[in-house]
Amino acid sequence: MDQNFDVIAIYEDLLARPNFHSSLPFHPKATRRFGAVVTPYRFLEKIPCGIESCHTPHFAGYLITTSDGLETAIGSHCGKTHFGMTFTRERQRVDQAIARKRRIDAVTAMLNDMPRLLGLIEGLEKDYKDLQDKKQRLLGAVDAGFFPMLKARADRGQSEITKEVPMTKAEADVFFETSNRKANDGKGWPTKSVHLANLDGLLFIKARFKDMLVVNLITPIRDLSKTRISEIEGMKPRQLAAMAKWVGEVPQGVLKAQAVVEAGRRFFTAENIEKLVHLGADRNTLSAMINDLQGEIYPATP
Ligand SMILES: [Zn+2]
Repeated sequence: MDQNFDVIAIYEDLLARPNFHSSLPFHPKATRRFGAVVTPYRFLEKIPCGIESCHTPHFAGYLITTSDGLETAIGSHCGKTHFGMTFTRERQRVDQAIARKRRIDAVTAMLNDMPRLLGLIEGLEKDYKDLQDKKQRLLGAVDAGFFPMLKARADRGQSEITKEVPMTKAEADVFFETSNRKANDGKGWPTKSVHLANLDGLLFIKARFKDMLVVNLITPIRDLSKTRISEIEGMKPRQLAAMAKWVGEVPQGVLKAQAVVEAGRRFFTAENIEKLVHLGADRNTLSAMINDLQGEIYPATP
């Protein structure tokens, strides 16, 4: 099953092969028949199909062997047209084997990068525990309805906290003049929004923190670190495909996780937690947490 696939970068690579012929007659014009698919190629310039009766130019095709031990290059449509299912099955076999090899290579590359990755997730795990502890502490210091309200605010991306205050007489005069409200319409004295504070780090409240750090990164990276290359090579196609897909997503996942940790650090500062009083949190029950946060200095992030 294991086959090495020659990398064919340019047409000259094909021409340089000892058994390669740029044009060959095939059955029924000759006794020669299709042999097997060696490897696919894709060029920047079109090359002629190697089937003598065809010669259709194409960018991408397959290097094939013939029944008499020669090689030529054909387009994939040509292969199907001239050689039928025998070619199609061969092509699929080679395409799948190449895809499998790419996936194994991707997972293996991550396995070889494991010392660095384990250091990285060790840091993320510490951040995760620290921020989860702080979140639990905050949950313990506010009413049951507070956090869902904060979460809804974070989901809306509404970092500014404002307060409605009654307009002055002069402001109200302008307001009545420029709207369809009237001073005596029974809808009450008009109000205006006044800026109170900007909340930092709401991305932390919005994010699915555990999924991003633990489920998508920490646990699977640790699991992979205990896996042998032979186990990866023995994986079923579906399992290998899922793993290779995840491997491809890890770099982006790490960046996102780091951004959320960074947001969490900005959220849990004494100054920021103090602002929650504007949203109805009790200053007295928050005060112990605020005091502790005041004494905290985060190590500088590289
Ligand atoms: Zn052709």
